[in-house]
Amino acid sequence: MLVEAHSKVRASHLKRDAYLYVRQSTVRQVFENTESTKRQYALKQRAVALGWPVERVHVIDTDLGQSGASAVDREGFKRLITEVSLGHVGVVLGLEVSRLARNCTDWHRLLELCALTDALILDEDGIYDPNDFNDRLLLGLKGTMSEAELHFLRARLQGGILNKAKRGELASPLPVGFVYDEQKRVRLDPDSQVRESIRLFFQTFRRVGSAYATVKYFKDQGLLFPRRLRKGLHKGELVWGELCHSRTLGLLHNPRYAGAFVFGRVQTRKGVDGKAIYRKLPREEWFSLLPGVHEGYIAFEEYEDNQHRLRECALAYGLERPRTPPREGPALLQGIVICGKCGCRMTVRYHERRGTLLPQYVCQRDGIEHAGNPCQRIPGVTVDRAIGELLVETMTPMALDVALAVQEELSKRLDEADRLRAKQVERIRYEVDLARQRYMQVDPNNRLVADVLEAEWNQKLRALEEAQEESERQSQSDRLRISAEERAQVLALTTDFPKLWNDPNTPDRDRKRMVRLLIEDVTLTRGGNIKVQVRFKGGTSATMEPAVPRPACKMWQTANEVIARMDKLLDNYTYEQMASILNEEGLYSGKGKPFNGILVGNNCREYGLKSRWHRLREQGLLTVEEMAQILKVSTATVNAWHRYGILKGHVYNDKQQCLFEPPGADRPFKWQGRKLSKRHPLIEFVSDHVKEVQYEA
Ligand SMILES: [Zn+2]
Repeated sequence: MLVEAHSKVRASHLKRDAYLYVRQSTVRQVFENTESTKRQYALKQRAVALGWPVERVHVIDTDLGQSGASAVDREGFKRLITEVSLGHVGVVLGLEVSRLARNCTDWHRLLELCALTDALILDEDGIYDPNDFNDRLLLGLKGTMSEAELHFLRARLQGGILNKAKRGELASPLPVGFVYDEQKRVRLDPDSQVRESIRLFFQTFRRVGSAYATVKYFKDQGLLFPRRLRKGLHKGELVWGELCHSRTLGLLHNPRYAGAFVFGRVQTRKGVDGKAIYRKLPREEWFSLLPGVHEGYIAFEEYEDNQHRLRECALAYGLERPRTPPREGPALLQGIVICGKCGCRMTVRYHERRGTLLPQYVCQRDGIEHAGNPCQRIPGVTVDRAIGELLVETMTPMALDVALAVQEELSKRLDEADRLRAKQVERIRYEVDLARQRYMQVDPNNRLVADVLEAEWNQKLRALEEAQEESERQSQSDRLRISAEERAQVLALTTDFPKLWNDPNTPDRDRKRMVRLLIEDVTLTRGGNIKVQVRFKGGTSATMEPAVPRPACKMWQTANEVIARMDKLLDNYTYEQMASILNEEGLYSGKGKPFNGILVGNNCREYGLKSRWHRLREQGLLTVEEMAQILKVSTATVNAWHRYGILKGHVYNDKQQCLFEPPGADRPFKWQGRKLSKRHPLIEFVSDHVKEVQYEA
C-alpha cells in the first residue's frame, strides 16, 4: 500500500501545498469527540511522511461545528474548493474523505476539480488519484455510501421521532408555563408567578377579545411576562420582560396551553441556496394534534374559540403586509410605501370626509407589537398629489429620452440591415462579373458552351437587378413603417400620460398600476415637512418635500399680525370701532371675510386678549355703581352727569356703557333747581364718545 501510495505522489504534487480539512458537525461533537479531532490532526503527520514540508500543510478547521450536509455556510469547505480550483493544492487530507461532504453534489464537485487540477486525495485508508479510473470509482462509491449512511441515520431518527409524535410521547421543547417532571411527564410550571401570569394572560384575552388589547392591558398595568431562554449560555432560564404582540399570538395559537400535544406545525425544507425555508402549515396538515394529553391552562374548546376570534380579527385588520397588489382604494402608493424612520412597510388607513375617502399612510408594525403609538402617520392626499405632479412632470422629458434612445437603436439596426443588403448586392455583382468574364473568355465557336455561359450571365444580371430593387424597397418600407410607429409611440407616451392621469374617469386601480410601472418604492419621513423619496424603476430617484397641510382648526386661523393689531386697538376702541378700523386697513379674518363687532369680539376672546373693560379697570376706572356710591347719588344721576359732561367716562363696549374716572377733589354735587345743561363742566371735558372715532396712524 505504502509503495503504491508513494508511486502516486509525484514531484508536481509535492511542489504544491497540502490541505487538511477538519470538521465536526455539531458543537457537541467538537467538545465530546476530541478523539476524532485528534485523528484528523494526525493525518498531518502522514502528509509530512509523504514528503510535504510541515509548514506547507495547511489546516482548514473553520467549519468545526457545521454540518456537512451542504456546502452553504461552510466557509472552510468553500475555501478548500477555491484553493483546489486555483491549482494551489497537491493533496487534500481528510479523515474518511467522503465525510468531507455529506452531499453528493459537493463531493463530486470536489472530485472533479481535484481531477482537473491533478490533486491527490488522502485519508486514513490510503491515497487516491482522482484521475485514475479505479480510484475515482472508489471515491465516488465512498461518497454515495456516505450520503446513504446519512440518509439511513436520518430516516431511523425521523421514524422514531414520528412514531413517538403519533403517540404524543415525543419530548419536544415546552412553551413557558410547562416543565417536564422526573418521569418526563408534562406538568404546569411549579413557579406560581409564572402560572398566575399565564392564567391572567388568558383571562385578559377572554375579556378584551383581541391580541392587541391584551398587550395593551399588560403594558398599561406594567405587568411583565415570563419567557424561557431556548438557547445560549443561559438556556432554560426564566426571564421576565414586556409582553409583545407576536408573543401574544404565539401563545394564543399554541394548542399546548389547552393541554394538547402537537407536532409538525411548521414545515422545513431546503431552498435553492441551501438555506432552510420555514412554512407554517394549516391545521389540517399538522402531523399530529392530540387534545387532553396533559394538564393545560385553558380548555380545548376555549382554544378553538380563541382561534376563531383571532381569525375574525385578522380578517378585519388584514394579515401580513408584504408588497401588496393594487386594490380599489384611492391611496396611490398602497403597498409600496416604506417608513423613513424604521424601514417597515407602511399601511393605508382611510377616513371619510364629506363623501370622499382620504388616505393616510401609517407605520404601525412597532406600535402594534408593543401596544404603543404608530411610528408615524402621514396625510396621503399631500403625498399622492406630489407624486402625481412628479410623474406628470417627469414623464414628458423622460419619455422623450427613452423614445429617442429607442429610435437611435432602431435606426442603428436598420443601418446594419442596409449594410448587409448592400453586401449581398455586391456579391451578386461580383458573380455577374465572373459570369461575364467566363463568357468573354470562351471560344465563340464553341456555341454550346457559349450559350450556357450567356444564359448564366443573363440570369445573374437578373438576380442582381432583383436584389438591388429588393434592397431599396425593403429599406424604404422599413423606415416608413418604423418612423410612423415610433411617432405614434412617442406621441402616446408624452401626450397620453398626463391626460390619462388627470382624467377623473381613470379608475384609481389603473392609476396605481401606472405608478407601479414607473416607481419601485417611496420612502416617507415626517419632520417639519414630509420628505418623499421616490425610487424609479431603473435606478433613478427623486426627493420632494411637500409642505404638511395645516390641520383644519388652524386653516381658518386669523393671521398673527391681525391679532397683534387688535391687541393694540383694544386700548382705545370698542369691538365695533375696531372692526371698522380693521376693515379700512384692509385686514381680513382667517376665512378671508371682513370684520364686524361680533367677529372681533370672538377673535379677542379666542386669542385671550385682555378686554377693554379689564384694561380700563386696571387704570383705576370705576364702575357706575362704585361712582354712585362715592358721590352718594343714584346710578341714573351718574349717567346723566356723564351725558352732560360733568363726569368723565370711557366707553368700554358697544352698548355705550362706561367706566368713570375717579372724581378727585372737585367732586360734583347735587345742585337743586339748576338745569344740567346750564351747569359748567367741573373738569375739562374730553369725550371719547362713539361718534368721534379717532384713527391711529
Ligand atoms: Zn416606522
